Amino acid sequence: MLSSSIEILRVSETNIPNITYKNFDFKYAMISPKNHNLLIYRNCVGVFRRKLSGVNLWEADLSHDIKHKIENFWKDKISHSTNGAVSEKKKCYVLSMFPYPSGNLHMGHVRVYTISDAVARFQRMNGKNVIHPIGWDAFGLPAENAAIDHKIAPQEWTKKNISQMKSQLQTLGCSFDWDREITTSDPDYYKWTQYLFLKLYDNGLAYQKNALVNWDPVDQTVLADEQVDENGYSWRSGVKVEKKILKQWFIRTTRFAKDLLDGLNSSSLHDWRDIIKLQQHWIGECNGVNFDFKLINSDEYITLWTPYPEYIHHVKFVAVKKTHYIAQQLSDKLLESCLYLENPFTSERIPLLITDDIDYLQFSDTFTGIPAICEEARNFAMKRNIQFSEVEKLSNTVSIEKVRNSVLDEAKSKGIGGFWNSSKLRDWLISRQRYWGTPIPIIHCVKCGPQPVPTEKLPVELPHLLSHPKKGGLHLKECENWVNTTCPKCKSKAKRETDTMDTFVDSSWYFLRYLDPKNEIEMFDAEKMKAVYPVDLYIGGKEHAVLHLYYARFMSHFLYYLGILPSKEPFHRLLVQGMVKGRSFKLKETGKYLPAEEVVILDNKRNKAVEKQSGAPVVMTWEKMSKSKLNGVEPTDMFKDYGIDTTRLLILADVAPTSHRNWNTNTFPGIINWQKRLWLTMQDFLKHRHNIPTPIPEEQFKECEEYMFDSRNYYIKGTTFNYFISQQLSIAVSKQQGLTNSLRKMPPYVIAKSKQYERALATQIILLAPMAPHFASELWSGFIQAPNHLNDSNEIFWNKPVLEQKWPETDLHYKLELLCKVNGTDKCKIKLQRSILDQLTLEPALELAKKENSLADTFSTRKILGTNLTIHKGTIGILNLIAKNQKEDCSESNGEIEIQEKS
Ligand SMILES: [Zn+2]
Repeated sequence: MLSSSIEILRVSETNIPNITYKNFDFKYAMISPKNHNLLIYRNCVGVFRRKLSGVNLWEADLSHDIKHKIENFWKDKISHSTNGAVSEKKKCYVLSMFPYPSGNLHMGHVRVYTISDAVARFQRMNGKNVIHPIGWDAFGLPAENAAIDHKIAPQEWTKKNISQMKSQLQTLGCSFDWDREITTSDPDYYKWTQYLFLKLYDNGLAYQKNALVNWDPVDQTVLADEQVDENGYSWRSGVKVEKKILKQWFIRTTRFAKDLLDGLNSSSLHDWRDIIKLQQHWIGECNGVNFDFKLINSDEYITLWTPYPEYIHHVKFVAVKKTHYIAQQLSDKLLESCLYLENPFTSERIPLLITDDIDYLQFSDTFTGIPAICEEARNFAMKRNIQFSEVEKLSNTVSIEKVRNSVLDEAKSKGIGGFWNSSKLRDWLISRQRYWGTPIPIIHCVKCGPQPVPTEKLPVELPHLLSHPKKGGLHLKECENWVNTTCPKCKSKAKRETDTMDTFVDSSWYFLRYLDPKNEIEMFDAEKMKAVYPVDLYIGGKEHAVLHLYYARFMSHFLYYLGILPSKEPFHRLLVQGMVKGRSFKLKETGKYLPAEEVVILDNKRNKAVEKQSGAPVVMTWEKMSKSKLNGVEPTDMFKDYGIDTTRLLILADVAPTSHRNWNTNTFPGIINWQKRLWLTMQDFLKHRHNIPTPIPEEQFKECEEYMFDSRNYYIKGTTFNYFISQQLSIAVSKQQGLTNSLRKMPPYVIAKSKQYERALATQIILLAPMAPHFASELWSGFIQAPNHLNDSNEIFWNKPVLEQKWPETDLHYKLELLCKVNGTDKCKIKLQRSILDQLTLEPALELAKKENSLADTFSTRKILGTNLTIHKGTIGILNLIAKNQKEDCSESNGEIEIQEKS
């Protein structure tokens, strides 16, 4: 194909990037598949991009070896995020939950980060300025215990693990913004965690209080309730947990309880699904108010909850359960005598009774006795001879509101509560007694009490441990040089707080730091936030659906309240991905787990299996992959055995991201064969472009062109919709496979000569690129080097790599669908040209719907209560009608109509 009119310029690979030409047109240039020389035809010059040509092994079959070569070749060229001029573009913040640096990527990580990378790449190709950061949730007990086991400092252990996992994530081909990388155990990060703590402290939202806590005597630290099993054993060390009274630091999350509950109804939340319910359940119904009552002759206070804040002046007694921490602190003698609280509104002395002889609300261990309005309190007061007088009840909502507001305002101004809350929600206990966490920036002075560390002295850095860490844990208490300091107020000798913060504090604001990670003077620049906040899509596991999301939402609400965030809710859309499960085998009798090699499966369907050696019955189940269950799959083995892109496609295909995935080799051939078919498609394309085959009849050619036009549009529509609108990435894969089937049907002459075929093939590769970036890049390099391009460079950028292509769009005259639903059920589809559908509004949409036979009944016999039209430009329109039967109307009116008919 090289004719004499062509000037051949030979250059070695190393100097290619330096060649600059003007007016370059790729129609006349290619890389020689054989020796990688650049062949440049006469009169054509330009800026040559080395990254356009790939491995070029088109003669070979697609083996694992070829895949590895492709991946090695492309890995550095596809990892950076190519955002270009960002100010022009709409931002899209794609966040995936950051990993705990355990040292090894597992299949759960592969799943979440592949999803997030595919979405990020998809959005970039759709012209968005994508923010796609990553970092490390690096503090915590597991690292500290592992460091002790390995006899090194937690800092070193963590650093080593991060570097290992970072390299694995890069191998996976994730296009993270590495310049935003943060590590929560890095002083540059935890300086701002401490700053955030002090902001809370200044606002009365961080406080210290005695509490009855779960104490793990082996790990020597407090455990959250969630970390203790139903029998009272520690989830980590496995020992019986003790109850202990300790002075602990709390964050007053209940301050924003009502806001956090109301925020769940915000129109800014999309696809939160059952997470809304979980959060609502966690917070509870905010139908009461918290008030702090001080214990007379003590610095203790008790937080009371009452649904009747307007009657707070009439509290006559307070009761607490015998298990309440106050009761636990008191000797039996004191228990018998009466203690008193002071009502902060009246200064009245209120008896505090320790008794289990009253009906406490569920999850509550205090009872606020207002006998004047509460039957239970009245009976109890009479039984115990507590004096009370009748009160004139507030008669209407206006007067109730008036008194309430004044009580709440007074409480807020005194700093003793006054915020709506549920009876069960508690403040967040953040104290941990172990070394490897963010130090709480407080100094205790005997004269001045607890004093915040001045912000200019932040960070309070963790002391470096000189000796080898020992069993039983590391504690700041033992670092005397570090503990002893001076009081920032009176300069006398004082001691540092030795508790560190729960790691959930570190992760409650990391998504904010990503947006301004190098800022040395502030947590982040509030001005910057206006353009980039909130997170558009948050991807992570369901295990964080309650606590982490709740704490992160709390911080966002708090910082919004301070005026430094532009919105209350931090996360617009959620994608809660399911677990990756492996098949586990355990002996029926002992429950001991066995590796797969030691098991013989007798009947897959009936779940029958035996141990190879003994013939003993084995139970087969699908469980979350873990080392202890011997059912894990190592991502690095997958990369080695099948290739990176194959692994990525396997984790995305077949099962929706939100469902659990039973990892099963049965699904492998589908993806492996699809990749082979794509490879064959490109081999055929190159072959027929270089040697034009025998023409086919014009009629047939035309039919093929139409078929390609139709296929291309049909699969763009389906793939695009499932990439982002429905977030069903598995369906996006099967749509792409559909396009491959269409392409494979085309005769050689069409492959060589059809403009529509060329468009469809370009589309195929572009749709694949976010999911399999290495493989698609190689296919693209083959595609653009084929001679005789038929499409102009408005649609296909012949001089750009696949990841910089424009996302393919359906043609304006292609017919899309307006899907009509009644009460959420699909009824019919109306075909409309894209140019019309894109512009469709509600009224004309309803007119069209009325002409449909399948909707005739709905319009004539039912009452339309509501209508809703959503247009996803270029893919689909959805018209939903909310309809009610006229009959249902009758039956709901107390049967009155029926009675009338009878009479
Ligand atoms: Zn002092």
